[in-house]
Amino acid sequence: MSDYKNILLALDLTEDAEQVIARALSISQGKDSTLHMIHVVEPISFAYGGDIPMDFSTIQDDIQQQAKQQLSALGLRHKIPAEQQHIVLGRPETEIHNVAEELDADVIVIGSHGRHGLALLLGSTANSVLHGAKCDVLAVRVGTTTSST
Ligand code: AMP
Repeated sequence: MSDYKNILLALDLTEDAEQVIARALSISQGKDSTLHMIHVVEPISFAYGGDIPMDFSTIQDDIQQQAKQQLSALGLRHKIPAEQQHIVLGRPETEIHNVAEELDADVIVIGSHGRHGLALLLGSTANSVLHGAKCDVLAVRVGTTTSST
């Protein structure tokens, strides 16, 4: 696990992010490796199926700008330079796979909520990223599980 050269850290920018960052830093620090961060912004049209005849471009730009600022603040705090911070528009699992390939990442570090029951059946980002990844995936357990569904 200590020989990873290109690490891609997937962040949803929630309060769980710090736990995932800490794990990614622990496998990269003191080693000859590059740590990249990615946050994928989902187009508003995905949520509405493109059926509502409204122009969401200003709201979409605001969301992307806000995400960029949040990622930049995390980068500053953890000394991850701007060129290693990636904001991409699309579906998280698809874009995480695409960027991992573009960067020739040898591991993707991602948070996992360890869901049960219905939530497990509905799937999770970690699960989707694991399936189809062409490199290792390190799923970092985040949050607490209270549901018994
Ligand atoms: P979820 O399954 O959506 O609860 O997310 C689990 C993990 O997937 C998060 O801790 C992140 O590592 C990653 N993730 C979820 N959404 C995104 C996103 N939009 N961009 C990048 N990574 C994400």
